Amino acid sequence: MTDFSLKLSDDQIGIQSWVHGFAEDVVRPAAEEWDEKEEFPYPIVRQAAEIGLYGWEFMAEAMSNDPTGLTMPVAIEELFWGDAGIGMAIMGSGLAAAGILASGSRDQVIEWVPQCYGDPQNLQLGAFCASEPDAGSDVGGYRLSAKYNEATDEWVLNGTKAWITNGGIADIHVVIAVVDPELGSKGHASFIVPPNTPGLSQGQKYKKHGIRASHTAEVVLEDVTVPGRCLLGGKEKLDERLARVREGKRGNAQAAMQTFEATRPAVAAQAIGVARAAYEYSLEYAKERHAFGRPIIQNQGIAFMLADMATEIDAARMLAWRAAWLGKNGQFENAEGSMAKLKAGRVSTWVTERAIQILGGYGYTREYPVERWHRDAKIHDIFEGTEQIQQLVVSRAISGIRIE
Ligand SMILES: Cc1cc2nc3c(=O)[nH]c(=O)nc-3n(C[C@H](O)[C@H](O)[C@H](O)COP(=O)(O)OP(=O)(O)OC[C@H]3O[C@@H](n4cnc5c(N)ncnc54)[C@H](O)[C@@H]3O)c2cc1C
Repeated sequence: MTDFSLKLSDDQIGIQSWVHGFAEDVVRPAAEEWDEKEEFPYPIVRQAAEIGLYGWEFMAEAMSNDPTGLTMPVAIEELFWGDAGIGMAIMGSGLAAAGILASGSRDQVIEWVPQCYGDPQNLQLGAFCASEPDAGSDVGGYRLSAKYNEATDEWVLNGTKAWITNGGIADIHVVIAVVDPELGSKGHASFIVPPNTPGLSQGQKYKKHGIRASHTAEVVLEDVTVPGRCLLGGKEKLDERLARVREGKRGNAQAAMQTFEATRPAVAAQAIGVARAAYEYSLEYAKERHAFGRPIIQNQGIAFMLADMATEIDAARMLAWRAAWLGKNGQFENAEGSMAKLKAGRVSTWVTERAIQILGGYGYTREYPVERWHRDAKIHDIFEGTEQIQQLVVSRAISGIRIE
């Protein structure tokens, strides 16, 4: 086990400043345009691919050569400091890759993860499809079904997924499906739907409050037929797991939950990046803006707000780094991943709201970026487990009681 340290390695500092440079030079200047357009920013993602930031090699390198777990949150904070919508467009495929890593065999990882990214000449995207129109938090309520045809060794998927990042525009869709409805959330399995599979289509594209450069849509599956090798983990393992559950023995955590648990410290880092952008901007503004003959920061009412913002951001980062380190070293005890995500989402929403307050009327206009950061921050209280779901996970972990 690696010791926990706040001191980043030289490699990590190098990655931090490399991503910061891209965020400052490319992402931040493009943020307003893509937020207004509300379209997937292909040219920016292509640039990210050209420098090696969008790609499975970066993910693999950052994760495998990092015993501390801190490299990804450090990189993600910088990227989202640039812009959260574009940041999600660059990081969204990572959720699909994480889904494959969580449940797939070695061969499946090697075959499908690179296809979630493609290369700069042939950009590809991945989508992780768990939520449904009638079941987001309530994963036991998923209905999209997968039925096995033994004669052809094929699975047939039917149903609708909702709120899917890169949904319908992705090349690889990782789909959580119900294989045994009687087992609730333990009767799920994950499937790869390969590029151009007939029957998969995009439903409505959502018009969103924030992260508008990130594409979010429904995904409709009508008799989508995939070969047996697209079942992540394989049929034998699935049958063994379902048999254990039916016998009343403890099954593995549900497929979707495994993915979310692994990604929560990274989502916390996204929120922290947005908060830091708003905090830094409002700090500079408070030094420049004069009212009653002096810079507004000379009023304790403003200075103390900034002091609280700085403190809360650092507190959220400490929780995110702790969770990332615990996750990497297999040491989660009290749902620390959920704690980090809960805290960081709230801090981001609060800090960005305070930033608008510090800018006054200007902060409320689209001439200044703080209103966009406030819109972007809010998603971190919602996706990958809402605020209340994180509270549920933490309260169950600390009490050992099944809180409902
Ligand atoms: C921009 C965006 C991108 C997304 N990307 C993806 C993606 O790529 N893949 C994917 O699978 N999903 C994605 N989601 C879906 C997201 O994870 C869900 O929206 C989220 O899990 C909440 O589900 P819901 O919207 O159905 O809300 P609900 O589950 O209906 O919750 C509504 C409210 O009730 C509360 N609530 C629910 N149950 C409880 C309870 N037991 N106790 C207390 N309060 C409760 C919730 O906290 C919330 O406040 C995305 C969503 C958005 C908005």
